[in-house]
Amino acid sequence: LGEIDGPVRTLERPGIAAPRRDAHKYSRGMVVVISGPMHGASELAARAAYRAGAGYVLLLTGGLPNPPHAIVRQRWSEGALDDERIGAVVTGPGLGRDDRAREKLDAALASDRALVIDGDALHLLDLDMLKDRAAPVVLTPHAGEFDALFGAGQGSKIDRALDGARRANAVVVFKGADTVMAAPDGRVTVAPMGNSWLSVAGTGDVLAGAIAAMLAQSSVDALGAASAGVWLHGTAARMLDRCFLADELADALALAYERAR
Ligand code: AMP
Ligand code: MG
Repeated sequence: LGEIDGPVRTLERPGIAAPRRDAHKYSRGMVVVISGPMHGASELAARAAYRAGAGYVLLLTGGLPNPPHAIVRQRWSEGALDDERIGAVVTGPGLGRDDRAREKLDAALASDRALVIDGDALHLLDLDMLKDRAAPVVLTPHAGEFDALFGAGQGSKIDRALDGARRANAVVVFKGADTVMAAPDGRVTVAPMGNSWLSVAGTGDVLAGAIAAMLAQSSVDALGAASAGVWLHGTAARMLDRCFLADELADALALAYERAR
């Protein structure tokens, strides 16, 4: 992983609490997931956001039928992100990489919402677009996405995550068997969490949803939200401790939440 001069913290129990007694669905955090053609991935992120405690999850779709479901579905439209109650937006899982995907990513970047950018969106992202953003951004690349975004550089995983965070002006969650989180101000957290059962399709989408839920509902900053999401995700995997599917992992976030107090 490498070393840096500054302090590297190991991920700790995030101390997230149950909803306040007077909670309502919007006070618990509203998360929007901007979807594309691969619906499965965005469904996982949306489900994970609920299981990580969000009170209202809206999936902006390409227009599938609308089955009765906790996840509210709406067609994508310009202005879809204008709702003041939106606490965080996820984009990337299942987004695709065509012009339409780019249009949606641009709209997300132009909004003043906290963003989690994952998957396909990391291939479309232009780092310059993050420079002047006031609202927090969390980027969640695996190794391939990291190289696509920042170039295949030299150095340790910690150095590279930190350099990426500074260049992007965003929190970077550099995923893998060890996940390294870095903030532009130089803070780094390493997460020896989870287990190797996480190496299965869809678990990254679940992580993106969990981080969005943390961003939407809590008063912590972007690194705190990313850390809490990674903690929940890794703890859920350890609690399952067997071969699982990503949707089971999403549901297990709720069990991990119980341990996060
Ligand atoms: P993605 O590559 O986007 O599907 O994300 C995979 C998720 O699973 C990330 O959160 C990784 O950190 C995690 N993961 C993948 N492989 C392993 C592994 N061998 N050990 C621990 N975590 C893993
Ligand atoms: Mg992924």
